[in-house]
Amino acid sequence: MVTFQDFGLRDEIQKAIDKMGFVEPTPVQERTIPITMKGKDMIAQAQTGTGKTAAFGIPILEALTKGVKPFSLILVPTRELGAQVCDEIKKLSYFMDDVRVLSVYGGKSIDDQIDAFRKGVDIVVGTPGRVIDHLHRGTLSLNEIEVLVLDEADRMLDMGFIEDIEYIVSKVKTPRQTMLFSATIPNGVREIAAKYMSDPEIVMIGEEQIVLPTTKQVYFNIERKNKIWALCRVLDAYRPKAIVFVQTKVMVDILAKRLLSYGYPVGSLHGDLTQSRREKVLNDFRSDKTHVLIATDVAARGLDIEGVTHVINYDIPEDPEIYVHRIGRTGRAGKEGVAITFITSKEVHLLRKINEFGVTEIEHLEVPESGRKDVIRKVMDFEDQADLYGMVLFQISAEGTPVERGALLDMLNRKLRVPEIAVGNINLFDDRTEFEIHKDSAKKVLMELKSLRVADKKLKVEIVHRELPPISMQ
Ligand code: ADP
Ligand code: MG
Repeated sequence: MVTFQDFGLRDEIQKAIDKMGFVEPTPVQERTIPITMKGKDMIAQAQTGTGKTAAFGIPILEALTKGVKPFSLILVPTRELGAQVCDEIKKLSYFMDDVRVLSVYGGKSIDDQIDAFRKGVDIVVGTPGRVIDHLHRGTLSLNEIEVLVLDEADRMLDMGFIEDIEYIVSKVKTPRQTMLFSATIPNGVREIAAKYMSDPEIVMIGEEQIVLPTTKQVYFNIERKNKIWALCRVLDAYRPKAIVFVQTKVMVDILAKRLLSYGYPVGSLHGDLTQSRREKVLNDFRSDKTHVLIATDVAARGLDIEGVTHVINYDIPEDPEIYVHRIGRTGRAGKEGVAITFITSKEVHLLRKINEFGVTEIEHLEVPESGRKDVIRKVMDFEDQADLYGMVLFQISAEGTPVERGALLDMLNRKLRVPEIAVGNINLFDDRTEFEIHKDSAKKVLMELKSLRVADKKLKVEIVHRELPPISMQ
C-alpha cells in the first residue's frame, strides 16, 4: 500500500494531510504526485470526487517559492469550484508560512481582489473571465507563474472558455509546469494539451469503473404529474441530505416553491442567482440548515459538499455523462450514497443510454409509500399511459380466467355507461382479457369495474404499462 509518507512531503504538508484525515492517497494522487513533484507536465483523467484537487495542490505547495508575483495559476470553470479549490489548498497549506491563496471570479468585489494582488498573492484560483479582466487591468501578472493548472478542463471547454483559456495560457511564462485535470478527455482537451504542454505524462484512472462503488443506484417508474408526490415520499421516508437535479432554472423555482409550501425547507441553486445568494444557499446546505437543495446541472457541477446522502434525478438527464457527474455528488470520499432517478414511461430509452454508457447497476424500486400522506396525493396520470390515440390499455381477469367480449362490453357500456367509441381493441388470453379505453373514461373503469362480478367471480382490473416502441438512435 502506498502512503503519503512515500512521497517524502514537507513536514508541514504531511501534517496538514493528517489533519484533513486523509489516510492514504487516492489512485489519481498515487499515480500523479510522484511525477508532478518532479516538475513534469501532466494530463490526468479521473472521475469526479477522486481527490484531483489535492493531486495538483500538493505538488504546487511542494514547489512553492514566494515572490513578488503569483507562483501558480489554477483555472476552474465555475465560481463554486473556485471556492472549493481555494479552500482545499488553504487546508493543505495550513501549517506552512503564510501561503497567500486568492480566488478570483465574477460576482466578488474586484477592488478587494486588486487590493490583494497589490499586497502579494502566491496562488491564484480563478475563472477564465475574471482572470482576463485582471490581465486587462494590469492587476495580475503571469510572468512569474511556475505552475499552471487547468482543472475540470472538459467542463471549461463545454462552457465555451476555449478562446479565453488560449489567451490566458499565452500570457503565462515559459518554461513552466502545466497540469491538466479532467473527468473526461474529449478531443478538444487533447488539442489544448498538445498545443500548450511539453511532453506530458498521461494518467487515466479506471475508465471502465465509471461509478463510485459506494453509490447505490435505483430508479422509480413515475409519471410526470406524480414526481412531486414521489419526491415528498422520498424526503419523508429517508430524511436525506439531498441534491435534487431538475432540467431547467424555471423548474428549480417552481419545485422549490411548491416544496416550501408543503413545509419542506429547501434551498434552490441555479445560474441566475446573485453570487451572494448562491453563497448563502450553499452555506445553509453545507451547515445543514436546509437538507435539500434543488439545482440545475450548471449550478451543481463539481460541488463537493460533505454528507450528501442522496442525489435525486428528478429529471433524468439526456446525456449519460451528466448522470455520472450528478451521482458523483454523493458517495464522496468512500462514504455511502444513494442515487435515485425518476423515469417516466417516455424516458425509458434514456435509462438504456445510461446502461449502454457502462452504468448497469441501476435497480428498479417502488416509491416508498410511508410518511406524511396528508400533504400531497398521487394523481392518476392517464395522459402518460395513453398511446398516440389517447387509448389506455387495461387488463381484466375473473379469478384467473379471461372475461368474454360480450360480458365485458355489457359491463362497460351498460353498467358503467362508457360510450362505445371510448372502447378500443379487446383481446382474450388464457388467463385475462386486455382491452383499450380512452383516457377520458379510464378513471371510471379503473375505479368501478372491479366492483362488478362475472358469473359471481371477483374481478381484477389493472392498467397495463405498454412496452414502448424501440427508439432508433442515429
Ligand atoms: P475531484 O476534484 O476529483 O472531483 P476533490 O478534489 O473535490 O475531487 O475531492 C473530493 C473529496 O475527497 C474532498 O472532500 C477531498 O477533501 C477528499 N479527499 C481528497 N483526497 C483524499 C484522500 N487521499 N483521502 C480521503 N479523502 C480525500
Ligand atoms: Mg475537481
